[in-house]
Amino acid sequence: MTTAETRKFEAEVAQVLHLVTHSLYSHKEIFLRELISNASDACDKLRFESIAQPDLLAGDAELRIDVSWDKAARTITLRDTGIGMDRDEVVANIGSIASSGTRRFLEAMGSEQKADARLIGQFGVGFYSAFVVADRVTVLTRRTGAAPEAGVKWESDGRGEYTLENVELPERGTTVVLHLKADEDEFLEPWRLRSLIHKYSDHVAFPIRMPKDAAAGDEDSDADNGSDGDDGAARADAAPEWEAVNDASALWTRPKSDISDEEYQNFYKALGHDFNDAAAWTHNRVEGSQSFTTLLYLPAQPPFDLMMGGRDERKGLKLYIKRVFIMDAAEELLPNYLRFVRGVVDADDLPLNVSREILQHNRQLERIKGACVKRVLDLIEKLSRDEPGKFATFLRAFGNTLKEGIVEDVGNRERIAKLLRFASTKGEGEKQTVSLDDYVGRMQPGQDAIWYVTADGYRAAAGSPQLEAFRAKDIEVLLMSDRIDEWMLGQFREYADTPLKHVAKGELPLDEAEKQKLEDATGAAAPLLERIKALLGERVEDVRVSARLTDSPSCLAMSEWEMAPHLAHLLREAGQ
Ligand code: ADP
Ligand code: MG
Repeated sequence: MTTAETRKFEAEVAQVLHLVTHSLYSHKEIFLRELISNASDACDKLRFESIAQPDLLAGDAELRIDVSWDKAARTITLRDTGIGMDRDEVVANIGSIASSGTRRFLEAMGSEQKADARLIGQFGVGFYSAFVVADRVTVLTRRTGAAPEAGVKWESDGRGEYTLENVELPERGTTVVLHLKADEDEFLEPWRLRSLIHKYSDHVAFPIRMPKDAAAGDEDSDADNGSDGDDGAARADAAPEWEAVNDASALWTRPKSDISDEEYQNFYKALGHDFNDAAAWTHNRVEGSQSFTTLLYLPAQPPFDLMMGGRDERKGLKLYIKRVFIMDAAEELLPNYLRFVRGVVDADDLPLNVSREILQHNRQLERIKGACVKRVLDLIEKLSRDEPGKFATFLRAFGNTLKEGIVEDVGNRERIAKLLRFASTKGEGEKQTVSLDDYVGRMQPGQDAIWYVTADGYRAAAGSPQLEAFRAKDIEVLLMSDRIDEWMLGQFREYADTPLKHVAKGELPLDEAEKQKLEDATGAAAPLLERIKALLGERVEDVRVSARLTDSPSCLAMSEWEMAPHLAHLLREAGQ
């Protein structure tokens, strides 16, 4: 009962097709990702259904995706052993817009985000991206559990109509044949297909296979035979030997208890392009109205150019949607000050065709981002508690990057501040080992500020005459000499309800007797002060008697709102 027919695409489909083929033109290669992702979804669906009905897998239990090519026929073929479709499903899924990602995405989004959702339409829906490189697409599919005669052949040139016909198919699952457009031959090269699979689908949880000859390099063997044309294709069509080209494990989708530290470290190295082990990682699955998995790593060593601005280094965090690689999305998934983090975020509920523009305004992603920040801060806290040695190394590498968070992430300022370590007059010399909590715990009775001094280097900070009075009173002073400190401290005015103050600013804590002494001294020195003021003229704002000094005769001080000398110096250097 073969019923061949020709149908028109729904008007919206024709529209989407038009938009997809035109707007994806500069990203043609994603057709492979989209089709593999559909094949992977089909395998996922069958895997799910077979939980309740194990006999669905009878005959061929293996869920896999085979990718082959035929240079003579100029076709690329994707075959999966997934759920397949019956005739109605083919019509509903790839002839109409009703069940496409676009429609579902539109529904899933709140009404406020309609504008974004419309954008998605412009980026097209997965299956139709086949028409970016193909001028004819043939789908052969048979629903799992259906008889061989219930196979369906769908074919279209993507221009408004498709044909539908029942055919006999010996196996379940779906085969998609792309008849490439005239100038798309690059995709017939096995190395090109292979590298695209690595790039986009390495972590698809099912084996993606290619004919084995692809590895041996079919160009060479072709040349040896002296034959022209019909090379890898013939072998791919004859009984080819297949080999998996992807990793297929999707490590982060496995339960934590099944993953060894070595596996975590290997994955990190591949992901972070690092030769060293990671310092720590955190692997979490969030279930709920919005489900996602995060696997986040703290590197032990800084990448070469992190401190040089490191814009290129913002590639370490990969966004997957249902195990399909979408994009490097460090900037969308983490704030700048956590740019050293490497890892994977795998979201279940984002549309696969999501664009970077959309990600930047996506509320779901905002939530995921919040969760990532929390996980990373938890992880650093845990490292500081449990592995002080590693934590110290980590801070040496990334402490200054973390300090940016004090300014950048006001909501987490206190948590970030807790993680920082400084040199101090009561610390271990130059080593930055004193936490703000250490400091607060050592404050003198009546001390109402966290005191610090800033300078170009540790020696200058530690040798500052400003410290004399503090030493005399046994008040600890933090010694800040990293380039970023001045900037950070410009915003960072309080910790644990205690103000942070530069020793050259603000008032020293004086008891009553000291206050009296200062007043007396000021009175006695009045004529001297006048003379000095007259001598220095415009160059100073005021000349005062001070309780700051014990040994040095004089020092420069600043009023509360003045720029610290070190910052003034930096600005002068920068030509401001
Ligand atoms: P999406 O994957 O977002 O749903 P697509 O345009 O990529 O959108 O695919 C449309 C639909 O076609 C899928 O939802 C699925 O129902 C069906 N489909 C596509 N490819 C396959 C396949 N290989 N096996 C089974 N069904 C498929
Ligand atoms: Mg799809």
